[in-house]
Amino acid sequence: MLSLKEKIKQKAFELGFCLCGMTSPHQVQYSSFLQKWLKKNYHGKMQWLESKNRELLNPALFFPEIKSIISVADTYYFGSHELTPVLARYALGYDYHIIMKKRLYLLLDYIRSQSKHAAGIVTCDNSPVLEKYWAREAGLGWIGKNTLLINNRYGSYLTLGEILLNIPLPPDQPVRDKCNNCSQCIQACPSHALKKPYLLDTNQCISYLTVEYRHHYNRQQQQISSGHFFGCDICQEACPYNQDLKPGRPDLYDFPEFIKSLQNFFKNPNPEAGIKKKQTALHRLNRLMLRRNKKNVTG
Ligand code: SF4
Ligand code: SF4
Repeated sequence: MLSLKEKIKQKAFELGFCLCGMTSPHQVQYSSFLQKWLKKNYHGKMQWLESKNRELLNPALFFPEIKSIISVADTYYFGSHELTPVLARYALGYDYHIIMKKRLYLLLDYIRSQSKHAAGIVTCDNSPVLEKYWAREAGLGWIGKNTLLINNRYGSYLTLGEILLNIPLPPDQPVRDKCNNCSQCIQACPSHALKKPYLLDTNQCISYLTVEYRHHYNRQQQQISSGHFFGCDICQEACPYNQDLKPGRPDLYDFPEFIKSLQNFFKNPNPEAGIKKKQTALHRLNRLMLRRNKKNVTG
């Protein structure tokens, strides 16, 4: 007979997640690293990282009943695409937050059907939770020198989600760092945002500037972002663990009308030309960002 942990994993894979693991919550030992990183303003204008840093380091402050964390991942590698130089791969389909959360709620329903006292919180990039840290603790992969989670089999084209649960589950084993002597991501980063292994200055990162930064660019930001509309995959493309990957589940993320609207948007010289943003990651772009980012690509 399968244990509850095995049943949860089986259900997670049935729901299409490529990875699933469990860990026990604890106080994260990143306090001095995080404080130094924040002090240097490497988080840019993401002020919530400052205001929520206590919860980030201690999940019990966010969910006092917490006894375990289930971490899941989807792969968004679907092969090459003509738009990947200007858009990050994760943005080329339905918004992953929607697709993952729907299935995380189904997974939580399943857990509750198996254990009547179970209750939990579903989260996907929307709570003070150190997603990559818990994914590493739960055995999904290691955090590479490019600061992303990497799995031996699925590389780093991974989106993460969690269920914070009020019942204990036997923890999985963390994975050891397998970056070894490699530094290809650091060499590949065109804006030198990776200051040294495992240290990212978001102010210089194209992903931050095109997705999170909600203001007009200065000259330096303009130069860094040139050629990029939304996100950046350059450090991931350089990573040896992202070569020869098998494509993931396009059936979950495929959104052909969106891709067509994007292609038309770039061809149309009118900066206000319509684009399908609803249900995609691009919904975060306001009018200023849309015009600004289009200029990055079309000049
Ligand atoms: S996402 Fe792009 S800009 Fe940011 S660290 Fe990676 S290569 Fe550099
Ligand atoms: S490129 Fe090399 S150093 Fe960078 S994350 Fe991948 S394996 Fe690690």
